Amino acid sequence: MHAHPRPWPTRGRRATILLTMSAATLAGCASAPATVDDDGPSVLVSFYPLQFLAERIGGPDTAISSLTPPGAEPHDLELSPAQVANVGRADLVVYVAGFQAAVDEAIAARTPAHVVDAAALTNLTPLAAETSPCPTPDTSETAICEAPNRADEPLDPHFWLDPTRMEPVADAIADALSGIAPDRAETYKANRDQTVSDLIDLDERFEEGLATCANRTIVATHAAFGYMAARYGLTQLSVGGIDPDAEPSPARIREVAALLEGTGATTVFFESQASPEIARTLADQVGLTAEVLDPLEAAGDGNYLTRMSTDLATLRAALQCQ
Ligand SMILES: [Zn+2]
Repeated sequence: MHAHPRPWPTRGRRATILLTMSAATLAGCASAPATVDDDGPSVLVSFYPLQFLAERIGGPDTAISSLTPPGAEPHDLELSPAQVANVGRADLVVYVAGFQAAVDEAIAARTPAHVVDAAALTNLTPLAAETSPCPTPDTSETAICEAPNRADEPLDPHFWLDPTRMEPVADAIADALSGIAPDRAETYKANRDQTVSDLIDLDERFEEGLATCANRTIVATHAAFGYMAARYGLTQLSVGGIDPDAEPSPARIREVAALLEGTGATTVFFESQASPEIARTLADQVGLTAEVLDPLEAAGDGNYLTRMSTDLATLRAALQCQ
């Protein structure tokens, strides 16, 4: 699936909608009725998993565009002036507040007519303490870091890797689109129901597929799998942090290697976009295999459901699940 190549509407055509905008709305819509032309609503999403939901729920009559280019990862996104202008023109913007500073700034500056903030809907938490890279090297056996100042820690944005956390976002997108184009509300509801059904099915396949495994530790170069691990009773041990661009120190790599001894872990996971060197270094040091586990941050081949299914198959093989 891909966004329609339709041009963005001009500001003039959207004047009635822009007058209804509410800067204070965090997750929801201005209440005034809006008029939508025959093209259907225009939706701007900040990155891939939100694009998947918007495409599934909006259907082919919805013009969907992503602020994160295909193949790019969303951390540290920068926006062009034209993209910032589009944030103000879209009928609906779907994003995760606090994840991409450039998107937060564009929304504050352009106050789009309707926004859905997935962060407000998915109960984001700081990276789980046992997965946090230690701020200082610590080579003791109990080096998995306690984090005394959890309130100061950044929230882990990777909610989409737990399919159940996608459901409230699907609901909010369906509600927002129904507010924008009430004549299409039945379609959005049907699309939402099918999408949530697919998410529930995916969750059940993960639960069954990861129920009985020889090993339950996910070793990852990028700490993207915290919510997935929490949902399915796995432990994420991350070499790097939430941001994939932050290179772990050699001391951290040695430390993780020490932590892995005795866990039975066989595999260190890295993402295809990132350099596999960290994974290979760690793999070499402790005799692990390096494998790709997709954090689904970038648009790519397949969709959210098929790519999550691939991750499940990768995990089942690596963790030796029955
Ligand atoms: Zn990430």
